Amino acid sequence: MNSNSVPLYADNSHLIEFDATVVKSGPKFVILDTTAFYPDSGGQPNDVGLLRHEGGEARVSKVMKRGFEIFHYLDADIPVGAAVHGIVDWHTRSWNMRRHSAEHLITGLIEALGEPPKVFSDLERLEYQPSILTEAQIRDVERRFNEVVDEDAPVHVYYENRMKIDASSDPRKIGFLQKIPRSVDRLRIVDIGAYASTFCFGTHVKSTEEIGHIVELRLENAKKGKKIIYFRLEP
Ligand SMILES: [Zn+2]
Repeated sequence: MNSNSVPLYADNSHLIEFDATVVKSGPKFVILDTTAFYPDSGGQPNDVGLLRHEGGEARVSKVMKRGFEIFHYLDADIPVGAAVHGIVDWHTRSWNMRRHSAEHLITGLIEALGEPPKVFSDLERLEYQPSILTEAQIRDVERRFNEVVDEDAPVHVYYENRMKIDASSDPRKIGFLQKIPRSVDRLRIVDIGAYASTFCFGTHVKSTEEIGHIVELRLENAKKGKKIIYFRLEP
């Protein structure tokens, strides 16, 4: 049986219950024919939740992608061929994708200032080196961010053929494309209104209102001219 899981989270980040069949299993792990569990990747942590089946239920604590296979690590064994009902913990998914989408929006707003691309980001910070960012600019980004949240700008996720993307005039796009394996020819693009556009395979909110407001945006001067921006959303 084919164990290349069809990722349901890619087309619907709000789907949290699904039915699937175990196509591979081992000690405390399974691979399903399809899954809504997001694996740890792209700076976004994995989902957690439950797999219910005829013999009981298993807690999903870790989800990892290896090649095209998505491994679900469990606290119990489930045999190959078992029909399972998956339930993704919405609280964790929502909190992760709100912060991940916020990171996209902050990135876009900072790019608009002419800042060189970030060198690192996760669900609570972005790092720039070199950087010309000032405290006044950060206050402006914070104000703009909350305006875009109030505007409830739509998030648009679509696919583009790699060959059709003209990155020649955009060094940021060239850098991104270089990091994506040559074998991936269908790229997923995530636009937040007209404020941010990124290649990304993660989970995202439907529109900016769902992200919520920023309650703290802090600029820290680190060593060697590095600047770190910490952000915190309303709960
Ligand atoms: Zn993303």
